[in-house]
Amino acid sequence: MAEQVIYLNGEYVTKENAKVSVYDHGFLYGDGIFEGIRVYNGNIFKCKEHLDRLYDSAKSIMLDIPLSYEEMEQALAETIRRNEFRDGYIRLVVSRGPGNLGLDPKRCPSAWVIIIVEQLAIYPPEAYRDGLVSVSVSQRRNIPDALNPKIKSLNYLNNILVKIQANLAGVGEAIMLNAQGYVAEGSSDNIFIIKKGIVYTPPCYIGALEGITRGAIIELCDKLGYKLKEEPFTLHDVFIADEVFFTGTAAEVIAVREVDGRTIGTGKAGPITTHLLEEFRKIVEVDGYKVYE
Ligand code: PMP
Repeated sequence: MAEQVIYLNGEYVTKENAKVSVYDHGFLYGDGIFEGIRVYNGNIFKCKEHLDRLYDSAKSIMLDIPLSYEEMEQALAETIRRNEFRDGYIRLVVSRGPGNLGLDPKRCPSAWVIIIVEQLAIYPPEAYRDGLVSVSVSQRRNIPDALNPKIKSLNYLNNILVKIQANLAGVGEAIMLNAQGYVAEGSSDNIFIIKKGIVYTPPCYIGALEGITRGAIIELCDKLGYKLKEEPFTLHDVFIADEVFFTGTAAEVIAVREVDGRTIGTGKAGPITTHLLEEFRKIVEVDGYKVYE
């Protein structure tokens, strides 16, 4: 395994030399955007979809990414190659860059681009069979009128507050509602429920990230013939669902066996969740950008 190198504004530097200014507005204000991406056997899974979301987030916050789409794709691939990496996680960060202490982004002459690749395993294999225990938390999702959760910004305090509540409850992922009390998403995962064979996920306009894994599951439902509805639902619907699962780049597709003390379905990963996970694992090495070809 090669020594870990990090892409920092066009240079490949060691971890010790990967340093960011204390005047960086990503650091000072959370002013920037990011992506979490997976590589499976040298395939950057859904690379285009991740870069589309990155460039959309950048447009929304008027951040000029100093690399073209193709250059960004190349930078991702080159960072993976230089780390002799085949499987793991990529963190792509574009910060507004160094400025002064004021919050005006006009004072930040150029954005900073950082690419880090690392190994990743957030849940043990048995968790995918047994399912997670989860809870709902009091922290509400940012309202889209204030800071739209569709923007994958560096400002993750909303999500971190959920994670703190999850930690206090001793669970790995928690369920956050929107300001109206509809289920929004987890701290870093989208949520799906299944009732009488129909798969439901909240529409992102109610306050959820347009997850790439979520999108892949929606496509798989279509391909496999599962009826899917994007519509708002409440915690009550979660409690009485036959199956519940989270989706995310790191978590993939993970069943939930209990929410707020209510057993979900049979209390382990249900048949549709299991089928979707199996089919998901078939596409991860295929659908994307091949680094070594
Ligand atoms: N919601 C939030 C808030 C997230 O941070 C993530 C992880 N990036 C997700 C959902 C899942 O999105 P994806 O499938 O693109 O990883």
